[in-house]
Amino acid sequence: MSIREVRAHVVRVPLHTPFVTAIRTVHAVDSVLVEIVDGAGRAGWGEGAATWKVTGDSVASIEAAVTGPLRETVLGRHPDDLVAVCSAVEQAIVGNTAAKAAVDCALHDLAARRMGIPLPRLLGSGSLRVPTDVTLAAGPPQDMAVAAKKRLAEGFGVLKIKLGDGTADDVERLRLIRATAGPAAVLRVDANQGWTPRAAVRAIRAMEDAGLDLELVEQPVAAGDLDGLAFVTAHVSTPVLADESVWSAQDLLEIIRRRAADLVNVKLAKCGGIAPARRLLAVAQASGTGVLLGSMMETHVGLGAVASLATVSRSAAVDDLDAAWWLSASPVSGGLRYDGAHVVLPDAPGLGIDGLTS
Ligand SMILES: [Mg+2]
Repeated sequence: MSIREVRAHVVRVPLHTPFVTAIRTVHAVDSVLVEIVDGAGRAGWGEGAATWKVTGDSVASIEAAVTGPLRETVLGRHPDDLVAVCSAVEQAIVGNTAAKAAVDCALHDLAARRMGIPLPRLLGSGSLRVPTDVTLAAGPPQDMAVAAKKRLAEGFGVLKIKLGDGTADDVERLRLIRATAGPAAVLRVDANQGWTPRAAVRAIRAMEDAGLDLELVEQPVAAGDLDGLAFVTAHVSTPVLADESVWSAQDLLEIIRRRAADLVNVKLAKCGGIAPARRLLAVAQASGTGVLLGSMMETHVGLGAVASLATVSRSAAVDDLDAAWWLSASPVSGGLRYDGAHVVLPDAPGLGIDGLTS
């Protein structure tokens, strides 16, 4: 009953609302969906999100890694030998974390499917529902305030705001959003490496002085500047969340050693899948570092994997699982759905994915 086939499907799924950040506007998600098939024809699904600007993975590089060395690594292996096969995938090639995540997640889905249980249950959870935040696309402050009101009416309670490039503007923008959203809404901001350490401290202190009551600030400085990240964490009271600075367990240990962040954002596409993510969660929790799970702009397949992990992650804050919410439709039939501010996983084997929709 060995692994018989590994297929890669390139998909492009349009968004229902453009996803605008300071550096780019996304109209569609480009991804590689990976299907791993056992001898009985059962399929496990995983996703490699192409994010040139974050992980350096492209559709072409993910497809090449999956259909080349990763396929060779898993073909003929026993799908129930999950730990060993995932470990072989991690060691098969350097880098290519999105491609490895796609294969690792497909292997986890297949293992759960073969046992006839939902993926969250394979990971140790009794729950199929997790809350998520939602991002407000960047735009004129008035438009963002209107969007904030709309999202709150739809049931979301945690709003993630991508910051622009001007500090004064950002404080004004946040002031308007806070005034519109009211005191009960949880507001978090993501600077996506936009500041120098000193500028970050100035900007965050200005936000604190303005009484904006921010839950956390994500990745204030450049990914590789751990000294700068530690400087910011030491000089503001708002909790600092490291995202682009944390890929591997080594990165995480370095952040812990320097006390460079209060929380870390774990994403499957950065660390290479569920197996390495679980190690990151264990290290973070042992050290008292808060964890939050997030994703790239990806579809219901990748979100199913990270949401499954979120059912057992004991995250320190509401996870960042809204990416597939932005899609006009799912590229697969079956799989997760959104219910207000919750991701709901199907009570079906694995991720409950039946196949591609077209
Ligand atoms: Mg981020």
